[in-house]
Amino acid sequence: MKTTQVQRKSLKDYEPFIESDLLESILQLSSELRGLRVLHVNATSFGGGVAEILHTLIPLMKDCGLTVDWKVIDAPSQFFDLTKRMHNALQGKEDRLSDEDRNLFKNVSKDNASFIKPGEYDIAVIHDPQPVGLPAFADFGSCRLVWRCHIDTSSPNRVFWDYLNGFLSYYNAAVFTLKDYAKDGISIDKIYEIPPSIDPLSNKNRELSKEEMQQALRKLGIESGKPVITQVSRFDPWKDPLGVVDAYRKLKERFRELQLLLIGSMASDDPEGWKIYEDLLRYSGMDYDIKVLSNFQNISDIEVNAAQRVSKVVLQKSLREGFALTVSEAMWKKTPVVGGNVGGIPLQIHHGINGYLVESVEDTVEYTGRILDDPGLAKEMGNKGYEIVKKDFLSTRHLHQYLQLFRDLTN
Ligand code: UDP
Repeated sequence: MKTTQVQRKSLKDYEPFIESDLLESILQLSSELRGLRVLHVNATSFGGGVAEILHTLIPLMKDCGLTVDWKVIDAPSQFFDLTKRMHNALQGKEDRLSDEDRNLFKNVSKDNASFIKPGEYDIAVIHDPQPVGLPAFADFGSCRLVWRCHIDTSSPNRVFWDYLNGFLSYYNAAVFTLKDYAKDGISIDKIYEIPPSIDPLSNKNRELSKEEMQQALRKLGIESGKPVITQVSRFDPWKDPLGVVDAYRKLKERFRELQLLLIGSMASDDPEGWKIYEDLLRYSGMDYDIKVLSNFQNISDIEVNAAQRVSKVVLQKSLREGFALTVSEAMWKKTPVVGGNVGGIPLQIHHGINGYLVESVEDTVEYTGRILDDPGLAKEMGNKGYEIVKKDFLSTRHLHQYLQLFRDLTN
């Protein structure tokens, strides 16, 4: 396993966003938990929501006095092919798990488990299926083990779920974005519901200066004065990027100047990305008002931030979704969001209040068109979205719930 370094962050800087009783409770828990040794393990330090969250939560936990390490598992590319299939199967896709698959999963878990020493940590939080097998092969001593599942496992492929569930008996608690994602028969007693969060001070979400905004828009290649709609997400079939292009094409018949930005990143643990990226380029054809951009064109946090700000509507047309940080990110920038009515998206979008929930390309066209037609409605929805994020989806609420969980498990 490799250790990931994080930047320093200070809870003090977040005070403008926190209610005083929440801050007080965080400080109280921090003093109770000072010195607690915590390990987070996941599959990648970059790309996708989990890495995004850990780059904020870990520095904040450290600032609260905890000793926190972040380790990323080491594995050959075949392992990530397998775990992406697992991810897809756990979200309901048909697939078969062969003996060869099981052996590969076991061997990689074993290899990474050899980095764990008994007595080194008080709490280990293992994120998602890729490292779930570690406790079966590692000696964690008296360390309390938490499995944090970020995906929607409410209707999984049964064979894959049973295989995964076999590893869960080693854990003391599981955390899901929604309690409903935990299947009947799950072999962990304690189930916590903790939704993810966004960092209001990160480059992804902070206010941008005029110059930063202009520079970012130039990099994105957007023509100013013409309306933009955007989807930001890994190049993944569940995010339905081709469906977004279909919706854009229909909308373009009415909104002749419309531009579509599709921004995606290649996470190191997601081997499907390149294929979807190529499909998307082919599908977009010669329409220069569609821009398909990624981290390989140096499109990074500030550009994503600018895209979410400049857009008239942000889309997240997912077919399956754990949470979709991209929804809260757009809401924080007062941009209305049209999102698939799946997973954690309805937690964030209240239909008709701060955006719309959709089930199809036709819905996407209908509701996006409504917002594009009515700037007053867009403004009202944007303001409501901001309030929802401020109340429920900022890192400080998330930090608080983790500290409560750690206290529960160590008491
Ligand atoms: N993201 C990004 N650049 C991209 C694509 C995604 O910075 O090109 C970020 C996005 O802003 C969000 C995270 O990656 O913070 C994706 O998290 P989400 O929960 O939406 O989806 P996941 O990838 O975890 O399924």
